[in-house]
Amino acid sequence: MKKVILASGNKGKLSELQSYLTRLNIELVPQPKTAEYDVEETGTTFVENAIIKARHAAKLSGLPAIADDSGLMIDALDFQPGVYTARYAGVGCSSQDNIDLILKNLKSYPDLEKRKATFICVLVYMESAIDPLPVVSLGTWRGAIYPKMMGEGGFGYDPIFWDFKHQMTAAQMSKELKSELSHRGEACRKLLDKLSARYKSLMAQSQ
Ligand code: IMP
Repeated sequence: MKKVILASGNKGKLSELQSYLTRLNIELVPQPKTAEYDVEETGTTFVENAIIKARHAAKLSGLPAIADDSGLMIDALDFQPGVYTARYAGVGCSSQDNIDLILKNLKSYPDLEKRKATFICVLVYMESAIDPLPVVSLGTWRGAIYPKMMGEGGFGYDPIFWDFKHQMTAAQMSKELKSELSHRGEACRKLLDKLSARYKSLMAQSQ
């Protein structure tokens, strides 16, 4: 199997991505939990930050790398928090701090239709640190910010992310349903398609 490093220490992300990549004969390995692997996310877009993380992991490990960058864009807040989703309430803040601030900032919008939001996930694959043509995939999930927390599952903003079709928050969903609907699930499926196409075209060229 071809080894690819995942520029994240998150075990949940690793197993979700691995389930898609096994059919391409790719074995994802987690990046070591050492300080040298931490990199500052200095980009102003999800794509830039994902590339920064993938390039850094590829450079240190000498392996091809995959990185993701995700977050929430809220229509009524000029599409914020965007790349600041993890640190919306300040560096080192908790998920609860972030949720409290979002709910406070949306207080003047009681109608769910005016609280629409999109989860974004960008995945990037780089063959090496100097790969000039990273494979980039985008997944989105459209919903709204529910005015109070509901549900026990998931993580981050899941308890306030409302799915109109299923009439529940992401934290009230089974893992399977969330992965079918979510930005991350869509980005994983698209990355798989793009990588298969890339491998096929490389193999065709080498024949
Ligand atoms: P990152 O993917 O670790 O960069 O996450 C960025 C931020 O987006 C974190 O605060 C996460 O909690 C939040 N986030 C990303 N995806 C999800 C999700 O599926 N549910 C809830 N929060 C999410």
